[in-house]
Amino acid sequence: MDNKIVYSVIAPIYNEVGNIPELYRRVKETLQKTGEAWELLMVDDGSTDGSTDEIRKLAAQDEQIKPVIFARNFGHQLAVTAGLDYSQGQAVVIIDADLQDPPEVILDLISKWKEGYEVVYAQRSEREGESWFKLISASLFYRIIYRITDINIPMDTGDFRLLDHKVVEVISGMRERHRFLRGMSAWVGFKQTGISYKRATRYSGVTKYPFKKMLKFAIDAITSFSYFPLQLAMYLGFLTAGISIIAIPVVIILRIVGLHAFLGQTTTLIAVLFLGGVQLISLGILGEYIGRIYDEAKGRPLYIVREAPSKDK
Ligand code: UDP
Ligand code: MG
Repeated sequence: MDNKIVYSVIAPIYNEVGNIPELYRRVKETLQKTGEAWELLMVDDGSTDGSTDEIRKLAAQDEQIKPVIFARNFGHQLAVTAGLDYSQGQAVVIIDADLQDPPEVILDLISKWKEGYEVVYAQRSEREGESWFKLISASLFYRIIYRITDINIPMDTGDFRLLDHKVVEVISGMRERHRFLRGMSAWVGFKQTGISYKRATRYSGVTKYPFKKMLKFAIDAITSFSYFPLQLAMYLGFLTAGISIIAIPVVIILRIVGLHAFLGQTTTLIAVLFLGGVQLISLGILGEYIGRIYDEAKGRPLYIVREAPSKDK
């Protein structure tokens, strides 16, 4: 087969109607330069702003556009997962639909892939027009992840990356529900490298990651790759037990000497509230993990498609 697809580009789309034509134009312009066969998977993650029709319109004009239309909003990570599942290329690129990841950078990713790298991630050297809150929370997030997990997730990378089809197959086989794809793609190993790029501002529209989604994403990332929060309860337990073991003889000696320290209700109340708080937080952390176990046990499909290309890999 000559027209076997070499490059698949996956763009998750949630209400990005203003970005779709420009995304198509720039991806097409870039991939045409390779002279090889390509496809652009537009995964519509339950859009309500007319993105769906825009995708269908493009697909009717150009058979290289492959629409994957979800039955409802399942979230960014699951939209990308669907793209991976339906991709047919030898190399698969994940890109944001809002053009914050410049499509032209795909050529740099490809040249590293041609050198034999199987995962090429794009590292942001600069970020234009992001709020200070986003910058600080993102930097904190990467540093925490780096400290408490065993996998080495490169700093300041997003999902903008190229994966060889071997890697795509492995990740597609990992059917965990709460997905942190950049962690998964680091976890699998293979030959990895990065290139740096300048992250642009959004072309049109506003961010689809409000604080609540960001928080859920961060908790998913941590719980998927670390038991540290569970161990935290134990550490705190040892710490408070340690403090009381030291405190008991200290108070006894002070009493013998005639100094009456730590009297009254306030001290008792503070101790009780502190421990109560610690216990509730620990229970909550346990709950996060148990809820995730329950989700996995139900074994529901990760996403539901209304329309999708045929899966003939
Ligand atoms: N996205 C999605 N489903 C969602 C939220 C976002 O498919 O529930 C897509 C969105 O359309 C965009 C990409 O994920 O292509 C990244 O989202 P966004 O640009 O809003 O995130 P930010 O760049 O602000 O972190
Ligand atoms: Mg964005």
